This record gives sequence, structure tokens and C-alpha cells, in this order.
Amino acid sequence: MVGAGLVGACGALALARAGSSVLLVERAPLPPAPAGDARALVLSAASREVLQGLGAWDRLAPHTYAIEHIRVSDRGGFGSLRLEAGEAGLDALGWACPADLLLHELRGAMRDALAADACFDTRYLGHHQDGESVLVELMTGETLHTVRARLLVGADGAQSALRLARGIATDGYDYGQQAVIAPVTVERPVPHTAFEHFTREGPLALLPCGGARYVSVQCLLDARAMDALSLPDDAYAALLERRSGARLGRMTVVGPRRAHALARQRARRVIDLRMVLVGNAANTMHPNAAQGLNLGLRDVATLAACVEHAADPGSASLLERYAAARAPDHRRTVGFSDLLAQGFRSRLTSVSLGRRLALAGADLCAPARLRFVHEASGLAALARSTTAVRA
Ligand SMILES: Cc1cc2nc3c(=O)[nH]c(=O)nc-3n(C[C@H](O)[C@H](O)[C@H](O)COP(=O)(O)OP(=O)(O)OC[C@H]3O[C@@H](n4cnc5c(N)ncnc54)[C@H](O)[C@@H]3O)c2cc1C
Repeated sequence: MVGAGLVGACGALALARAGSSVLLVERAPLPPAPAGDARALVLSAASREVLQGLGAWDRLAPHTYAIEHIRVSDRGGFGSLRLEAGEAGLDALGWACPADLLLHELRGAMRDALAADACFDTRYLGHHQDGESVLVELMTGETLHTVRARLLVGADGAQSALRLARGIATDGYDYGQQAVIAPVTVERPVPHTAFEHFTREGPLALLPCGGARYVSVQCLLDARAMDALSLPDDAYAALLERRSGARLGRMTVVGPRRAHALARQRARRVIDLRMVLVGNAANTMHPNAAQGLNLGLRDVATLAACVEHAADPGSASLLERYAAARAPDHRRTVGFSDLLAQGFRSRLTSVSLGRRLALAGADLCAPARLRFVHEASGLAALARSTTAVRA
């Protein structure tokens, strides 16, 4: 496994639990404490199910905050949608978790399972096939070494070195936007409620973290994002208040702001000889629907179901079964995030009217709301792909 980001850490744990002997390599050193990522990531019901199955949920649960209600609105005028966990028979629509704590805890669980087989400060350089396995070149510090594996898993992120090494092309584009993250406190918190407000420049999400604490995710065009980063805290809080329609009262910025460039990128294929790409290495998407990590966790859960009891975890037939099982979820999830990103940016009056009518219509139509909530939970997609590979 190459990469100990959120997907790689969970993937190594899942494969070890499925009985595989796993070596995980991560180019960065292991930081002593969680730090440096102010995002709150929303885990879906399917992700919770995956993490429970891996025995990792218990250590994560104290850091999570349940989102039971989501209010979605379009800029100005009519067109809003209310999503309720209770209406859909779920205990929550998702769980917000600080990204740095999530990574720290997942790496902790993974290291407990792999012990000495988790190598930080170790970079993947390249690989080639050798009979029924691959020889993988790694660099630890100044030392070059080679390991043999039956299957190589690329969880090495959007700039995947494995994908580049095998010449796998990608389709996609840059949204020309950045997500500006700022932790805030608000004057009038609404318990267990997340807000997503779409504007022409991009969505503004307010994710509840408990009490008065929220994490704001404001997507802005590149140049505006740079301006927003340089604003004093008070001015940035005022901007957030204006854009969110002041529904949570006065806001105070309580931590540093960071920006993440946004792009959509899909690998043209996710498998190669004795190799598979998972997580962002396979699909990177706009964060508006909070699906990137959730999709990656369904990747590794499906891969673990595939290799469990397999005589050869890297055989072409196994990998083809995996790729076929994951393709519909990849297409649907990336397509949905992209549709939201493009549809809510359009300046065309007809598109903007259609968008508001769609929101208002979905708000009035319970079956449409329920379908949306169940799709977003990822439970059906997880069941479909794990069942397909076991069949
Ligand atoms: C603003 C924002 C908000 C988001 N919110 C959500 C959300 O609410 N819910 C959700 O599901 N998703 C969300 N996402 C998406 C989510 O963050 C990503 O999909 C997920 O973190 C991807 O994880 P990954 O492990 O695939 O990749 P990465 O996190 O990029 O990890 C890749 C790892 O591989 C390592 N690596 C790279 N090259 C090498 C090499 N040559 N050798 C060894 N190691 C290497 C890197 O150091 C890194 O640790 C959000 C994204 C953004 C930008």
C-alpha cells in the first residue's frame, strides 16, 4: 500500500483484517500529534459502517459530531431544501470529524494492526512486474531498497506517482476555485444542523462541531480566495455572515484560514498489472457533496472484500472484478459533485431558475428527499459493490 492518507491508512487496516500481509509506505514522516488540517470532514453512514467493521469507530466516535439536519439553499429568493435524518429512518445524515484527528486516529488503528510494517519517511519510486509479483523500489532517507508484492495499491493521492509511473491518463479540469477553510464560533448555533448555501462563485458550507463551534468551507474563485485569505479575521467573519444570510448571528473566526485548490480528476482506468488505484489517486472531486473520502472508503472496503480468501490478490480476474464493481459508484458520485459544482455556478437565467425549482420541488417531494438522503449515505453503493465482488 502506497500512501498513509485517510484512504491508505484505512485501506491497510482493511486488507490486514481481510487476512493479507500488508506493507504500507508513506513518504512523509509520522507527526507526533494531530496538526495542520483545520477541515471538518463529514463521514457518511456507509463510512461509519466500514470503520465499525474495522474496529476503528470506537476511537473516532468521541471526536465526531452527528449531523441530523441539513439546510440547503440557493442564493437569494426561493429554492431551499431541508434534509432530516429522522425522516429517512437514520440516526444521522453524517458525522463531522476534525480532519487531523481523523487521520491521527486512523493511522493509530492501522499501526496497531501492522506494527513494523508501516514505514513512514519512505517514498515509492517505481515498480516493475516480475513473474507472479511486482518488484517495488522504495527510498527511506538515502537508502534505496526493493520489496516484492503480489498486489500494489496506490492510495497516493491526486498526484499519484503509481498512476504516473504506469502512464494512466486522467480526465478532468480545474474548477478555478479554492475552498477557504476557517474555524468559527457563532452567536446562535442550531444543534446538529449543517448549512449549505450555493452562490454563483461556489458553495458556502457551515459544518457543526458541537456547541457554538462550526467549520466554514467557502468556495471562491482563485483570485477572490487569495483576497479572502488576506482579510483580517473580523472582515472575513463579516463576509461569512453576509454570505450565509446571517442565520447563525455574529461569527468569530477562531483559528487560521487555509485554502485548498479544487479540481475534478478521474483516472481513465483504476487497475493495471498487479496494481490498483484507490481514493483520490483514482477520483478527485469538488468537496460540495462531502463525498471524496466516503467514496475512497468504499473503494478499500470493496478491495478488502475482493482479496479475502483469494489465492492471488493481484490476479487480473480479481482486479477486473474490483474495477467493474466500483465503476458505477465512481461515475455516479463524481458526476453528482460535478453537476452541483457546475449547475450552481451558472449565470444563465434558465439554469438558475431550473436549479431553484429543483430545490423547491425536492423540498416538497418526500420520496425525492428520501432518495437523495439514502444515496448520500453511501449504504446502497457499499452493499452493491461488496456484494458484486463476493458473488
Ligand atoms: C476542502 C475539502 C473538504 C472535504 N470534505 C470532505 C468531506 O466532508 N467528506 C469526504 O468524504 N471527503 C471530503 N473531502 C475529500 C477528502 O479530503 C479526500 O477525498 C481524501 O482526504 C483523500 O484521501 P487519500 O488518502 O486518497 O489521499 P491523500 O490525502 O492525498 O493521501 C495521499 C498520501 O500518499 C502519500 N504519498 C504520495 N506520494 C507518495 C509516494 N511517492 N510514496 C509514498 N507516499 C506517497 C502522501 O504523502 C499522502 O499522505 C474534502 C476535500 C477538500 C479539499
